Amino acid sequence: MTSVAVLGTGIMGAGMTRSLLREGHDVTVWNRSPEKAKPLAEDGATVADSAADAVAGAEVVVTMLFDIEPVLSVMADVAEAWPTGAVWAQCSTVGVEGTRRVESFAAERGIDVLDAPVLGTKAPAENGKLVFLVSGPSALRDRVAAPFEAMGARTQWVSETLGDASKLKLAVNAWIGAMVNGVAQSIALARGLGLDAQQFLDAVDGQAVDSPYVQLKGKAMLTGDYTPSFELDGVIKDTSLIRDAMTEAGTATTLADAIADRLRAASEAGHGEEDMAAVVHAYGT
Ligand code: NAP
Repeated sequence: MTSVAVLGTGIMGAGMTRSLLREGHDVTVWNRSPEKAKPLAEDGATVADSAADAVAGAEVVVTMLFDIEPVLSVMADVAEAWPTGAVWAQCSTVGVEGTRRVESFAAERGIDVLDAPVLGTKAPAENGKLVFLVSGPSALRDRVAAPFEAMGARTQWVSETLGDASKLKLAVNAWIGAMVNGVAQSIALARGLGLDAQQFLDAVDGQAVDSPYVQLKGKAMLTGDYTPSFELDGVIKDTSLIRDAMTEAGTATTLADAIADRLRAASEAGHGEEDMAAVVHAYGT
């Protein structure tokens, strides 16, 4: 059993907390808006009034916040109360530059940190089925192994170099953005040509070009159920991180720019707080 503090109980942090509790870990949570943390008491979490209170006595501190600015500002609030020997598992998606800032912050304060972004969305977080991409010193592995096993189906140790996991996370999210936009484009095209767009999903069903994600997001687009697993505005944030990384890597940004353009159009049309599947509205349907 590990004492874990979860800072940030939004869609992902709340699910991760429940997965930790199910496996018998001792979890203290904090969230800026207390109404999102309080219900976790019913699952067995201790709800702290401040982030500093939440980390007291923790062996592992998970940050699962929107982006780098809240991560660093919340960590600045807890730095003085940092428990001796605790490991910081930075799980938020903060990109390449963001992870460099995490590394400097931790080094200046002598905090042990792992770069640990996750793959998977609301349901995998709730069910302990995330994939952890982790980079940083292998000496810290044993200290996070049990909580990561509770929250994830597997852990991929990317390298000893802090930041490599966040780089890989951006490569994966670039693919997810392309997939969702590709599905949206085909559904809009089928509809625009007067077809029942379900026929697009039926045509690819079970073929090499299909995937569970194509069917999942395609169904959401057809039914108009945009209950958020990942809010569209969060994907805009990630697309910006991906674009910055592409510029650093010297790779073509053409596709990322087109995806960002359609996501912004959907957000401006009022879909920013809906699931990313709502991007279909920016394709003319
Ligand atoms: P979310 O539901 O929007 O939660 C965001 C969290 O960040 C909330 O706890 C929010 O607090 C907090 N926050 C935002 N600004 C803050 C600030 N200035 N100060 C303090 N706290 C602040 O997002 P999520 O989907 O759980 O995502 C969390 C992280 O995981 C993001 O980095 C996201 O990119 C990444 N991620 C998400 C998914 C997914 O599918 N959802 C998958 C993998 C990774 P309030 O409740 O007070 O607003």
